[in-house]
Amino acid sequence: MSARTLSVGVDMDALRHYLRIHGQAGAGAADEGGVEGAVDEGALDAAWAVALDRFLELFGALGLPATFYCVAEDLARSPACRPALARALAAGHEVGNHSWRHPYALTRLPDPALRAEVLEGKRRLEEALSVEVAGFRAPGYHTSPRAQRAALDAGHRYESSAFPCAPYYVAKGLVLALMRLRGRRSESIMASPRLLLAPRAPYLASPADPYARATAAEVAAGGALRHFPISVHAGAPLIGTAFTALGPRLSALLCAAARRRQAHLTLELHAVDLLSLTEDALDPRLAAQPDLRASLSRKRASLEAALSAAAHGAEPLTLTALARRLA
Ligand SMILES: [Zn+2]
Repeated sequence: MSARTLSVGVDMDALRHYLRIHGQAGAGAADEGGVEGAVDEGALDAAWAVALDRFLELFGALGLPATFYCVAEDLARSPACRPALARALAAGHEVGNHSWRHPYALTRLPDPALRAEVLEGKRRLEEALSVEVAGFRAPGYHTSPRAQRAALDAGHRYESSAFPCAPYYVAKGLVLALMRLRGRRSESIMASPRLLLAPRAPYLASPADPYARATAAEVAAGGALRHFPISVHAGAPLIGTAFTALGPRLSALLCAAARRRQAHLTLELHAVDLLSLTEDALDPRLAAQPDLRASLSRKRASLEAALSAAAHGAEPLTLTALARRLA
């Protein structure tokens, strides 16, 4: 058995969520100002109708099993969602819970609404797909003691929401501040900076603080949830946006360096990482999302280079398989 492991996840965020981040949509939660038009579901369905099959091709070529984190309401909103997930499952990948409706402010919801987002996400995916949905990833890269408790109570085996990356945290704060200056209101929110203290390697989290290791007593009491943080190396996040920005050569160097230093890597991608604004003729309002402006050939080459380097000498496996092994 290899001591080194690699897991890859894809957040299957539909394109309407990017309009929400950029303060351009009336989709989802209440919105004041910044509304520039109704959301056309058909024109925003490329995550399911186009991107998922590109990921299946890429992962198939590299022999990697992946976790597709899904927003359960897409089962009802996108006709392409369920058949796409059936193809992913048939190819040996797994499905994770990315909440019911992707509220960016999940951690600020009152308890009943928060618990419904976590529980209904899992329940609806399991009912539609007839598989266990073992993993939870909160929207917007952060969790809380209440969200973690809800994930545990709903029967998840692991959570992969922590992203302890200081440069990303600072950049997100700057972008949100700039948007406010321009009079746009994002639905995205800033998390507690405590998340920057989260362990880099997989850990059992304390029920009191999902970004801290559980004590032996907390583990014995059954209140600790397994967490797989998104990997960071030397301040650089191992995520699709970074790979697109870096290009193939630097992405491979980054992942190779991370591979040498860390026994387990959790790489995090998004549906937009294999979509292009112009080549896929997407909604022009999405030009606000910079990584959608890169060419498909650069994106695919960057992801392939990053994944190949991260997989070098490592056993690729899903987080559910790894959670079982660590249990
Ligand atoms: Zn998301």
